[in-house]
Amino acid sequence: MQIQKSFESREVGTLYIVPTPIGNLEDITYRALSILKSSHVIAAEDTRNTKKLLNYFDIHVPLISYHEYSEMTRDTEIVNRLQAGEQVAIVSDAGMPAISDPGSRIVAAAIAEDLPVVVLPGASAALCAVVGSGLDTNRFLFYGFLPRKKKERKHELEGLRKERATLIFYESPHRLKEMLFALSEVLGNRRIALARELTKKFEEYARGSVEEILHWVETTSLKGEFVVIVEGASDELIAEDEVSVWWKALSIEDHVEQLMEEDNISSKEAIKRVATERNLPKREVYQAYHIN
Ligand code: SAM
Repeated sequence: MQIQKSFESREVGTLYIVPTPIGNLEDITYRALSILKSSHVIAAEDTRNTKKLLNYFDIHVPLISYHEYSEMTRDTEIVNRLQAGEQVAIVSDAGMPAISDPGSRIVAAAIAEDLPVVVLPGASAALCAVVGSGLDTNRFLFYGFLPRKKKERKHELEGLRKERATLIFYESPHRLKEMLFALSEVLGNRRIALARELTKKFEEYARGSVEEILHWVETTSLKGEFVVIVEGASDELIAEDEVSVWWKALSIEDHVEQLMEEDNISSKEAIKRVATERNLPKREVYQAYHIN
């Protein structure tokens, strides 16, 4: 167990997680600016990007790169700096570090060394989009980017089909159409919202059913960054899924027996049907029924 008193005076330095704007530079907070200014070093996902931001706010603090590939070696360097009493700020290219961005490893590494970690509140595309979607915000599940490969993406979505919470996805513009197809195929024609270019001049929301939005996406040339918000599973959908797999809780033997009894059919016929329903070889069902 570990207790962190974030602002208790200690010899070691603090690791600050500092969110940066997701488009509109006015979304930086006073506190973020003051922490960036007072840090000994700023670890950035892309130093060139962050340099522009720091120049804009007239901040001149040394930058180190904190790219995914160099995370491991950087972790050690950052932990050493914190142990030596330096204040280190972590920023990503936009929004909250560690949310579909690098950062979570250094947080874990600092915690493992009992170093204080302080997270500043600030811009994150996911939260703006879910609130602006008009969908339920009592419970939501942040997924981030779905896998690029069709099969893996479908598998992930299948795992989310019965999730009641509102779902939040990030997606790049050139994969948006195929992602919406996959949504409609696996999750059905639910209500969704696309939040595009949040906080920027061309900020736009498209709210409607998956099919309506797909049609809109197909007929509009869409650029920029997107968050896709999807309504959670309804009671009806969950009930429908349960009916279609009524045998789920049964063993293979019980499944065969129940079919024989309810539909008044032979064991041979029931074995055939169980094999089809469970997508199993007939031999396997036969063995489970006759041998067990
Ligand atoms: N850490 C960031 C955050 O807290 O939002 C997310 C970084 S992730 C690498 C980038 C993705 O976030 C984009 O592909 C897009 O899905 C979403 N995103 C970032 N900025 C956005 C914006 N202004 N409008 C809509 N989506 C945005």
